Amino acid sequence: MSESTIDTVPDWRTLVACQQPEWPDQARLGEVVDDLAASPALVTPWECDALTARLAKVAEGRAFLLQGGDCAERLDSVSAQTIRRKLRLLQQMSVILSSASTLPVVTVGRIAGQYAKPRSSPTETVDGRTLPVYRGDAVNGTGFTRTERQPDPFRLRRVYDASQYTLDVLRASGAEVFASHEGLLLDYEDALTHERSGRRYAGSGHMLWIGDRTRQLDGAHVAYFATIDNPIAVKLGPSTTPEHALALIDRLDPDRRPGRLTFIVRLGARRVRDLLPELVEKVNASGAPVVWVCDPMHGNTFQAPCRHKTRRVDDVLDEVAGFLEVHRALGTHAGGLHMELTGEDVTECVGGGVGFEDLHRVYESACDPRLNAGQALELAFLVAEMLR
Ligand code: PEP
Ligand code: MN
Repeated sequence: MSESTIDTVPDWRTLVACQQPEWPDQARLGEVVDDLAASPALVTPWECDALTARLAKVAEGRAFLLQGGDCAERLDSVSAQTIRRKLRLLQQMSVILSSASTLPVVTVGRIAGQYAKPRSSPTETVDGRTLPVYRGDAVNGTGFTRTERQPDPFRLRRVYDASQYTLDVLRASGAEVFASHEGLLLDYEDALTHERSGRRYAGSGHMLWIGDRTRQLDGAHVAYFATIDNPIAVKLGPSTTPEHALALIDRLDPDRRPGRLTFIVRLGARRVRDLLPELVEKVNASGAPVVWVCDPMHGNTFQAPCRHKTRRVDDVLDEVAGFLEVHRALGTHAGGLHMELTGEDVTECVGGGVGFEDLHRVYESACDPRLNAGQALELAFLVAEMLR
């Protein structure tokens, strides 16, 4: 990024940061943040640059991106075995997609840092009792008690340690898998941001994304993301106008560097065919080299009769089909997939042998429903058919 660009970016601390926890004790938050700022970065600048280079190939239509993992990682269930099962699933899906598309697949986990969640309401009411909503293990606990739901800044330190452990397992697996998460908690991200010969890198993960709820052009998240040199992404939901997408490009990728900016679109199976063409057309006409990725999960969530949040595998597949159709019709590159999945044998999404009546059996997600390994592999095979 040029110096003139840095000069024009307002300090994120002077802007509104949506979806931040109300930490009860600012002094304690300050201590944790100072401790993190004095800790080594979890990822290196050259690893981040390597991912940007891989994503540049995706932007040019010469590679495909598979990004996936939990909606919300859990601090208490970090284990080498669970991490390896997730990595193995991602790698299997990458192989399936690579052989069908005859393109190299860049594999990126929602992993080693995916601990903070944006929520649609700040509170949750159960049986007439209202408490702060669960905002991810980085902030508070899932249990419906006042103590659990109280934000605790020390959790940020635990996230750092758990992410480091996860990255150790990931690096020892040999295969090239990068780490990504939503860069939601700006105190945490800022503390781990390091400057080196004029370049600034978020040290919390290789790739960070801005969620659909925090992509305001005048907001703190866009301002912070504009200052880092990692590859970054923005989630685009149904309310995104082409003008908003173009303004995001101007703010986040003023130099139009291929691989720098990915748009993860999550429009829903019913709307993708209507809403995506204009977005892609106008961005493409601007000449911006963005990577287009389909998140077929977040526009297809609904509440099952048993009250669990769920998704139909059929809807997920239908949104991917719509995404591919739109890109095919426009002659643009359908760059990849962004999935919520786990290597564990959960019953959170409906389809592939899991019915509504099975949801209660192994529903472990603290937030959104994930595909299990069988569902994810089945989906990869069906998407592979579409890519051939
Ligand atoms: C998520 O990826 O878990 C998420 C909250 O997505 P979005 O910002 O697209 O709603
Ligand atoms: Mn989610």
